[in-house]
This record gives sequence, structure tokens and C-alpha cells, in this order.
Amino acid sequence: MLEVINLNKKYNKLEAAKNINFTINKGEIAVLVGPNGAGKSTTLKSIAGLLKYDGEIKICGKINKTPDGKRLFGYIPELPSLYPLLTVEEHIHFIARAYGIKSYEDKAEKLLTIFDMSDKKEKLAQELSKGMQQKVSIICGLITNPQVILFDEPMIGLDPKAIKELKNLICELRDEGASILISTHLLDSMEELWDRILIMKNGEIVVSKTKNEFNEADESLEDIFFEFTEEK
Ligand code: ADP
Repeated sequence: MLEVINLNKKYNKLEAAKNINFTINKGEIAVLVGPNGAGKSTTLKSIAGLLKYDGEIKICGKINKTPDGKRLFGYIPELPSLYPLLTVEEHIHFIARAYGIKSYEDKAEKLLTIFDMSDKKEKLAQELSKGMQQKVSIICGLITNPQVILFDEPMIGLDPKAIKELKNLICELRDEGASILISTHLLDSMEELWDRILIMKNGEIVVSKTKNEFNEADESLEDIFFEFTEEK
């Protein structure tokens, strides 16, 4: 479970996140949307513990910046940041060992296979295409068995097969009880996945609703997005 309580973040005088409150339950996929500059990345980076902020963020009841909290979440940033001179396999070993994960080899094989990366294990990160780097970033984010998973534009740069596999994987993680937060502009790609929508505008959450709370069953994410973000 992810709990964000009274999150406030200022960059000098600019209030990029204003009194943000939301919860993502176990087994729930939340999509975080909003126009450019709405504060989505600021919110994700705060949850990932990469920024200083006011407020409280809990991962399964543990403060996100504590070792116990950190152990429980995975963050897949918008731009993969890999170690150029480590191979794909070395990345996975390094992350798994840093988190004290003992048996990760089977899971690593499964993830490498579904992303067609099994024959790239020996390749250095600097030799990989952008999409392959994104795949390694996703594998490293998931190899630690996180209970809360943050994805920032996870589909960008992935080929259609990898997008399909990633969607299946996200559903599997949801079914296993993870709380998943996905920030994206690619609303179509989330259509069949989302359980909760969080819409940000000017640093605030203007909507936090589950799919069931929308009256019209055929309302698309895009319809909902424009309904709440367009100036009237
Ligand atoms: P989004 O991810 O929704 O596009 P961001 O969280 O990146 O929005 O940005 C929210 C606001 O904070 C924007 O006005 C942006 O210009 C500002 N901002 C983001 N990062 C910084 C930073 N490091 N320093 C100063 N202002 C920033």
C-alpha cells in the first residue's frame, strides 16, 4: 500500500506539489495524468525519496526514506540511468545483491525472456539501444520484488511486443497484490489497465477516483482527462 499524506514541494517560490493526498491500495493500478508541468514527476520523485519535501509518504506503513521503506518499492524512471560499463547481467546481480535478494535467478531469466533480452546478457549498457536500456531499467526495478511500483512513462521507447508484455506483467503484479502507480501521457495504453485515476493540475490533485466511481462505463481515459483539465 502507498500512502501520500499532505505532500508539499516547492522549487524556490514555485509550488510544484500542493497538499497532495492519496492512497493506492494493494492490488490497485493507479494512473497519474495531467498536463506538462502539472507536478507528476515531482510527486513520483518525492515518493521515490529523491527530493526534499514536506509531508509524509508511507510504503506498506514504512516511511519511504527509511531502509525498510526503500526495500519495498521499485522506481522505473522516465529515462533509464544505467551504469555504462556494466553488462545487463551485472546490473541485475548488482541490484539484487544490494537489496539482499537471495533467489532472483529464475525471476531474472523470466523477465529477460519476456523482454527478448536473454541473448543480451553479456552486453554493456552503453551498447544497448534506448528501448533495450528501458527494458533493463524495468527488470532492475522489478527484480527486488517491490510491493509498491512507480513507473514514469514506462512505454516510451518500447516496441509493440514489449509494450504488450509489460502490460501483462503489470496485471500480474497487480494480481499478486502490488500497488502500482503509472505516470503517463499515453492514455490509450492504460485504457484496459487502470483501477484508479489521479489527475494533477497546477500542482494539485484535482481528481482521485476509481473506475467504478465514473457513471458512464464507456467513458475513456481521454474523455475523463479533458473533462477535468480543460479550462471551461
Ligand atoms: P510534470 O511531470 O507534470 O510535467 P513536473 O513535476 O516536472 O511536472 O514540474 C512541475 C513544476 O515544477 C513545473 O512548473 C516545472 O517547471 C517545475 N520544476 C520541475 N523540476 C524543477 C526543478 N528542478 N527546479 C525548478 N523547477 C522545477
